[in-house]
Amino acid sequence: MPDRLVLLGTKGGPAIRPGGPSPTAMLLQASGRNLVIDCGLGVTRGLVEAGMHLRDLDLIVITHLHSDHVLELGPLIHTAWTTGLASPVTVYGPPGTQDLWTGFLASLSYDISTRIADEGRPDLERLVTIVEYGPGMVFEAEGLSVDALRVNHPPVTECFALRARFSGRSVVFSSDTAYFPPLAEFASGADILVHEAMLPEGVESIVSRTGNGARLRAHLIASHTFAIDAGRIAKAAGVKRLVLNHLIPADDPAFTGAHWRAALAPVWSGDLVIGRDGLVIEF
Ligand SMILES: [Zn+2]
Ligand SMILES: [Zn+2]
Repeated sequence: MPDRLVLLGTKGGPAIRPGGPSPTAMLLQASGRNLVIDCGLGVTRGLVEAGMHLRDLDLIVITHLHSDHVLELGPLIHTAWTTGLASPVTVYGPPGTQDLWTGFLASLSYDISTRIADEGRPDLERLVTIVEYGPGMVFEAEGLSVDALRVNHPPVTECFALRARFSGRSVVFSSDTAYFPPLAEFASGADILVHEAMLPEGVESIVSRTGNGARLRAHLIASHTFAIDAGRIAKAAGVKRLVLNHLIPADDPAFTGAHWRAALAPVWSGDLVIGRDGLVIEF
């Protein structure tokens, strides 16, 4: 199978709506490994629809512990286990990931112990290794490496952009961040930069539809990046292709690809992909 990146969930934030996209999750298949990046709601279904057998679940990296990036971590691993997973899975996540996993196992203890005793399944807890990481190298193994850069996503301090390297290629994931110029150096020369993005007019539309609009607006502006600034990062980094994801708004029919392209046009004339669930990029 060729190396490829699949966007499984492309909306920013944890809410889901009829016909709309799912929260954040991606699959990078490179050097024969399956690397899942973030586990928002819908990641399990997204992986299956993308053609990955769940028993081949292998590596997971969580960028930060906001629920739109981690809500389905436990359910993904559990479902892979009931689908035949019998080989080790390693989860790399920020501090707190071990507690999340331990709490998930406790919440499902009845089901897990029953299936081990009744169905002869392997011990789920022993299949999974949690590695909590910080800035710098996350892992390097068999032709695939991932490095992390702490980004600016208040009030979350343990939030990391990732750079994956394989077969002479690089893909950088911004994670959630306010406009963060150091990301340009981290992403320098990458083949692909997957950057979160929001539209100013879209933010106002969301704020007007939401009860606590003023506080939501303040959070979005302090913690996320407008599309034009994602374009500035891509240009400064000299990346070959910019992929927008974690879109805000993502499920408002008033905003289309044309709005995103227009927002970026002043700063970015390179290859541009507006993320959507199920989108496949082959290398
Ligand atoms: Zn998010
Ligand atoms: Zn976040």
